[in-house]
Amino acid sequence: MKVLWAPWRMEYILADKEEGNCIFCPGQDRSQDRARLVLYAGRLTMVVMNRYPYNNGHLLVAPCRHVAGLDDLDMVETQDLIAMVNRSIGALKAVMNPEGFNVGLNLGRVAGAGMEEHLHFHVVPRWNGDTNLMTVVGDVRVIPEHIRDTYNKLRVHFQDPAPQPKGKP
Ligand SMILES: [Zn+2]
Repeated sequence: MKVLWAPWRMEYILADKEEGNCIFCPGQDRSQDRARLVLYAGRLTMVVMNRYPYNNGHLLVAPCRHVAGLDDLDMVETQDLIAMVNRSIGALKAVMNPEGFNVGLNLGRVAGAGMEEHLHFHVVPRWNGDTNLMTVVGDVRVIPEHIRDTYNKLRVHFQDPAPQPKGKP
């Protein structure tokens, strides 16, 4: 299988389009959620669809606070972030039935981050042979309809309150 995981290329496109605006901030205006492809915005963590995805269902999971590093988060934020990565995987499994996932962080521009100021996990669903579809999926003229359709299906799975971490006293 060819290696698909090269998110920096898309992040640079995204960064150019946004002209320095952080796509994760401001996180409080709920009226723009659909337009901004926000699937979930909790007190600590948010989940956004990548507008320039590597695969259909490519999600970005970020803390609500505008911080760059994992070490900028306290333990509660870290737990919530990981819990939402897990929940995103669950939602993608339910809706898209992927065969695997790439989950990762790009920390710093040299590591490929296009929005290095605001920490975010990539969650990318994978299917056998999906690298063959990349020329289609990567066409930004084609993808918006896919994204809206996928957004509507995934959003259902982010409506309930987030489950509490297990083992919490
Ligand atoms: Zn931000």
